[in-house]
Amino acid sequence: MIYLDYAAATPMSEKAINAMKPYLAEDFFNPSAPYLAAKKVREAYEDAKNQIAHVIGAKGNDIIMTAGATEANNLALSGASHILYLITEHDSVRNIARAHGGEEIAVDKNGIIDLKDFASKLTDDVDMVSVSLANNELGTIQPIVEISEIIKKARLSRLERGIKTPLYLHSDASQALNLVNISVARMGIDLLTINAAKVYGPKGVGALYVAHGVKLHPLTLGGGQENGLRSGTENVAGAVAFAEAIADAHEHINGNRKKYEKLSEIMRRELLDCFVEPVFLGSRKKQLANFVPVCFPGIDAERIIFKLEEQEIYLSTGAACAASKGEKSHVLKAIGLSDKEINGSLRISLGEGNNEEQVVTAAKAICKVVGEEYARING
Ligand code: PLP
Repeated sequence: MIYLDYAAATPMSEKAINAMKPYLAEDFFNPSAPYLAAKKVREAYEDAKNQIAHVIGAKGNDIIMTAGATEANNLALSGASHILYLITEHDSVRNIARAHGGEEIAVDKNGIIDLKDFASKLTDDVDMVSVSLANNELGTIQPIVEISEIIKKARLSRLERGIKTPLYLHSDASQALNLVNISVARMGIDLLTINAAKVYGPKGVGALYVAHGVKLHPLTLGGGQENGLRSGTENVAGAVAFAEAIADAHEHINGNRKKYEKLSEIMRRELLDCFVEPVFLGSRKKQLANFVPVCFPGIDAERIIFKLEEQEIYLSTGAACAASKGEKSHVLKAIGLSDKEINGSLRISLGEGNNEEQVVTAAKAICKVVGEEYARING
């Protein structure tokens, strides 16, 4: 099998699996129970939260553990009343934002935020801005520091004019966490979503960083865990595995970036040999190193995917979730692609298990199938 869909899911690392095992059985105690064995579990949980937070330059007490990035995004945005969000955001941001006075910010042809459009929409009643650090279809990395500078100026201006509406910056770093050094303070981020499922940790585990002073509405009420923002017995095994996975990702960020730059370069070079000329999407300079979003105009990408699957090569059209609903990608629409171009778009996302040989084999297989499809369509 050649797996080229790491943006959809990563396998759990051995280290993460081993780290979580003790907390599934022998150390199963509820961390809130009063006996010593449970207190040790509580300690392990707090240590895990500290480790996770450390990677983004925060403290354990600043993060709220959640059951994945969808929940973290919902928790971040559900208390807001007028949200500006990037048109290319993941559905877990778009759908909650739309329910809370959501207004879209435009992007350019590479999927980068249109800062002029953003500044013009940043009126005094906007209380939340949500821009992901990196997009899940194009891998586009947003200029988050420039965005937070604009927000800081708007806050200052509000203060001077006696306007009390708060203004927060939320960023979904689900895809970026593997390959971008994140510091919430340096980047001026008030709320940050992270996702274990994309960094070789368990699915259904994520967290929301919450800066001091930011007021949120809890989604679940109950025993008051996670500073009252996320009631429910803590997922200790999940947090411990996330901590292990995220620490590993962080330690190897530079090496991994170089590895994926090289592999994606090889993939691009090989795809240029295809009979139908590929159009690479996004700007290479502002893109996660492991992403190769590519379009073969006029070719049906769905058919390419099925044919490659027969050869045990797995990749995706746009985002896995949009594709499974049979919807056209809102991200590719937002960067101005025509329906024909959207239909011919593939998302290749590289990861741990890939090497040069696999990339060359997969690229040749893609070219072969694209050529066959071209011949079929054009008689
Ligand atoms: N945000 C982004 C950018 C994603 O890529 C994903 C997953 O594909 C999510 C949020 C949702 O994550 P989960 O399904 O783990 O809740």
